[in-house]
Amino acid sequence: MPTRKRTQILGIQVDNVTYEEALSLVEQFIADGRPHLVVTVNPEFIILAREEPSFAQILNGADLALPDGQGLLWAARILGSPLTQRVTGVDTLIGISGLAAEKGYRLYLLGGAEGVAQAAAQQLRHRHPGLDIAGTHAGSPAPKDEDEMVGNIKRARPHILFVAYGAPQQEKWIARNLRDLGVPVAMGVGGAFDFASGRAKRAPVWVQRFGLEWLYRLGHEPWRWRRMLALPRFACLVLRARLGWSTLGKGNMA
Ligand code: UDP
Repeated sequence: MPTRKRTQILGIQVDNVTYEEALSLVEQFIADGRPHLVVTVNPEFIILAREEPSFAQILNGADLALPDGQGLLWAARILGSPLTQRVTGVDTLIGISGLAAEKGYRLYLLGGAEGVAQAAAQQLRHRHPGLDIAGTHAGSPAPKDEDEMVGNIKRARPHILFVAYGAPQQEKWIARNLRDLGVPVAMGVGGAFDFASGRAKRAPVWVQRFGLEWLYRLGHEPWRWRRMLALPRFACLVLRARLGWSTLGKGNMA
């Protein structure tokens, strides 16, 4: 594997990769065959990780930490080691599906509300004819359901498992089961099935380009306001780190 270019933001490592590089790394993980964890970091993840060291440990142990949130690009610039671009979970899910249809990789979609993973699978197959989706299951991140779900996934033998339970449950679920699953790539994707299925509408490209997708999402899902309080908290912590008031914010490339 090539050396990773990483930026550290408030103690969390984020890979400085482009979308194309991310897809190419996923291919390398599949070729390698050993289990790999891919996470999609945003400011909310970083705030959660400060409160839960076990989540921070999972994120920093990931094989690939994608810069999903626009806030991370801003923070990395402020902290002196800019990230090249935003790489979102939903774009990566769609990109991997295209790659999978071309190369014959099998996918498995776990999580989301009842019927959403199935609807996302249908849309992805429509978009990429020939795509092999080995299974979908809404399930729950509760440990009591785990053995059965792990057994089902192992039998389906996917190359890539997407898990949509929201952070930090999805990353914890993967971390607990990754070795046993024997899946080369497992990735937490949050609300990506909602977007891929068409149940939730993505912000127009120009809104994304202005870095305002979070605001668009808040307008469509106002119940998110409480969670989004993480954004001003994140901004304050980054500015404090920039001023040298905290030891965790150095944007060093690792
Ligand atoms: N979810 C789930 N089971 C749970 C909790 C959440 O399937 O116990 C799903 C939920 O339906 C949604 C996704 O997990 O599709 C979480 O999306 P969220 O909006 O939190 O993720 P984000 O995109 O903000 O990271």
